[in-house]
Amino acid sequence: MKLGYNEATCMKKSSVEKDLELCEKYGYDYIELRLDMLKDYLTRNSLDDLKTFFESSHIKPYALNSIEDINFCDDTQWGGIVELFTFACDIAKEISTPYIIVVPTMGNTMCLKTEAEVFEDSIKALTKLADIAKPYGVKLAFEPIGDRRWACNSLREGYEIVKAINRDDVGLALDCINFYLNDKCADLEYIRQIPLDKLFVFHINDCEDLPFGILDHCHRLFPGDGCIPINGITNILKEKGYEEIASIELFRPEYWEMNPDDVIRIGAKKTKIYL
Ligand code: ZN
Repeated sequence: MKLGYNEATCMKKSSVEKDLELCEKYGYDYIELRLDMLKDYLTRNSLDDLKTFFESSHIKPYALNSIEDINFCDDTQWGGIVELFTFACDIAKEISTPYIIVVPTMGNTMCLKTEAEVFEDSIKALTKLADIAKPYGVKLAFEPIGDRRWACNSLREGYEIVKAINRDDVGLALDCINFYLNDKCADLEYIRQIPLDKLFVFHINDCEDLPFGILDHCHRLFPGDGCIPINGITNILKEKGYEEIASIELFRPEYWEMNPDDVIRIGAKKTKIYL
């Protein structure tokens, strides 16, 4: 697998410029850029600057993060999503980024939705977005978030949605903590059922050993520092022949306060063990 970096990891003290410089310095192959950080970058630079950087660097863009809350939208909410998504498609095309990460809706009432409702609504939303993305040549990586606050919270549910959509431009993002948050990786073997051509992105991370209800994204840790059976996950991915990105994605406030140079250096060292 290739070493990737997701900009959420240092988003409080870094910038696109700094992330690119540090990821290049520490040998990352890919970066997942954040749309809010890109908007900030574009106040100081042009898209051509970004294009030129990638043309002359080892690191390449892999995915844009993220289009969120795509389920059960009213017209106004959907309008906002389409606007941001179209902005993302434009950039993805310009700088040759193959994927956009798309995330289900989060909210306290999401746990009241039936699986059938989530299935039907996700198919509708993802299909509409994929139709918009098609002329740009960009693919959608749908990422189930493994907590009941999110509409789609298991890899199984995500795969059933993506399978029903049945388009080569709609696939999945598998994320270690999201997979763990669903059932503590009780069914690791389920990963084998996902065809390689539907597995677009792999987010690698670990987490503290805390009970469900308390465990959250702020408890993410560097790979190897927590309780997620990362080896079990990556061994299955390797056996399947997955050779794409393993992107370190952490949302830990403690790391946000650290020097990005340290986080990105340590992240590379601790992630490489699993590649
Ligand atoms: Zn993720």
